[in-house]
Amino acid sequence: MNIILFGPPGAGKGTQAKYLVKKLDGYQISTGDILRDEIKKESDIGKKIINDMNDGKFVSDQIVNELISNIIFDPHKKNRLIFDGYPRSLSQAKNLSLLLENSGQIINHVFFLNVNKETIIKRIEKRKIEEKRSDDDLDIIIKRYDRYMNITKPVLDFYSKNINFHEIDGSLKIDQITNKIDNLIDV
Ligand code: AMP
Repeated sequence: MNIILFGPPGAGKGTQAKYLVKKLDGYQISTGDILRDEIKKESDIGKKIINDMNDGKFVSDQIVNELISNIIFDPHKKNRLIFDGYPRSLSQAKNLSLLLENSGQIINHVFFLNVNKETIIKRIEKRKIEEKRSDDDLDIIIKRYDRYMNITKPVLDFYSKNINFHEIDGSLKIDQITNKIDNLIDV
């Protein structure tokens, strides 16, 4: 089963992704983690993206698309993909459709964790203290939220017409969200 978790930064995608990885013996594709890893490794890509990342800006579609394509074609990960933070733009969504088609896969479920700005700000401030992430300053948080909502709106429109699209109130407690996801994938 392949699943997309969709929603603004701080909506709880990562937490639910980890749950789904366990439940479905899945493989989490967190483009945020993959990109932070490139920075840590001080790779060529890492050097190119560090400023945008620290500024809360999106990394170019070309870089992100390239990084995920090997994962999608990996036979060990086939039909076990849990997308967390990808796709984030219409170009990425179209690229993903193409990659899935070419690798004989489909997306079984898209979960949109919808949360308002106030809840996000509170959550990210907490995470900032716990995880010490350098892109988690309040100004940047607000920029990231607004940018996410603006740029990803077309992605929402792209998926929301499909019957496998489910909107979930992301301000619910973690296990309430998990229950809703469980009920939708277990049918
Ligand atoms: P995240 O951990 O998903 O909140 O992502 C952290 C940062 O990584 C974002 O603010 C972007 O700078 C970058 N990023 C993560 N995923 C993507 C993506 N799919 N497209 C572009 N930039 C991304």
